[in-house]
Amino acid sequence: MDKPIADRVSHIKQSDIRRFSAICAAVGGVNLSQGVCDQPAPDAVKSAAKEAIDGDHAIYTNLRGIIELRSAVAKKMRDFNGIECDPETEVAINVGSAGSFACAALSMLNPGDECIVFSPFYSYHVNLLQLFGVTVKYVDLTPPDWTYTREALEAAFTDRTRMILVCTPNNPTGKVYTKAELLDVAELADKHNAWIVTDEIYEYITYNQPHLSMASLPEAKDRTLTIGGASKTFAVTGWRVGYSVGPAEIIDRMAVVNDLLYICAPAPLQYGITAGLGLPESYYDEMRADYLAKRELLVDTLKTIGFTPYVPEGSYYLLASFEKGRWPNATAATESILEEVGVATVPGSAFYRDPADGEDQLRFCYAKQMSALEDACARLRKLGASNKSQAACPASRQAD
Ligand code: GLN
Repeated sequence: MDKPIADRVSHIKQSDIRRFSAICAAVGGVNLSQGVCDQPAPDAVKSAAKEAIDGDHAIYTNLRGIIELRSAVAKKMRDFNGIECDPETEVAINVGSAGSFACAALSMLNPGDECIVFSPFYSYHVNLLQLFGVTVKYVDLTPPDWTYTREALEAAFTDRTRMILVCTPNNPTGKVYTKAELLDVAELADKHNAWIVTDEIYEYITYNQPHLSMASLPEAKDRTLTIGGASKTFAVTGWRVGYSVGPAEIIDRMAVVNDLLYICAPAPLQYGITAGLGLPESYYDEMRADYLAKRELLVDTLKTIGFTPYVPEGSYYLLASFEKGRWPNATAATESILEEVGVATVPGSAFYRDPADGEDQLRFCYAKQMSALEDACARLRKLGASNKSQAACPASRQAD
């Protein structure tokens, strides 16, 4: 007899992001799939974490995280994000930004409540919401600029809407929401008394304009929870240190949920990230310039092999479409490219409300060391501008 399995996990499966990352590792390919960010972390961050280990910072921290890190987060929220917050009551350190989002969803939403998400989306957001029994309502973003219509946004709100999620700079599109768009969201969230949760984990990776935080807008501040983290900023995705900043009433609840689920983020690593937040402005300038060069290399490569890349304004991902018929669908394209040239990507279908909308797209991650990205691009160029010979070409056209 089958052993009992909870209904809430009966439909969940490993994400395509992780799936193709694992297949890539098994075949020894170059991983442009999962945003693992395999680049060296800054020495200051590593040294401070090592010192904390040597100094026996080995026990549970405060359930909101060490005050040194909360104070450093509050300072950077003021200086970089334009958000005033009290490190004692309005900041909590979490187990990665995914941990922040889990605590937020559990603290803000009942099963059956609705959360609005823009599509394409980061699948972990949607899957976590569904795990918690939340109904996801989608607003479609249309390429190339990933715009939505005000009508669609208004229509997504109902009397059961309790949260709207904005991820800016965006995973997977690279979209950076404009001030007008953030104000749109703020106005409607206010009208429907919904929380705004913003995932700003890619805040330091913008190319054309400075990052704009939702909570820096007075119209939004009181109902916005800002999520961020160290993973991307310091290339430490496996350290699992994230943070939440928002009104004390919700941070209070989230801190208790954080305690129940995780107790605290890893203690010595919190010290490492505290040191990271003390790095000079030049660190961030160099990071941006480095990602810009990587974006250009990948965009140029994709163009030469017949893809249409949607050039990102931020983050370190891009979606690119391929000519319909070149491969039967996005999963077939991902598998074929991995097999043919050893480069892993993620099928675009993994990111859409209607997977059909992403069947001619792939997501590429360029958070790699330049030498690895150059290797990946050299491999991709071997694909050529089309693979008509292998394409699923309808029989009627073959006779032409
Ligand atoms: N955020 C990263 C991505 O989108 C990593 C995802 C993960 O492994 N959970 O690829």
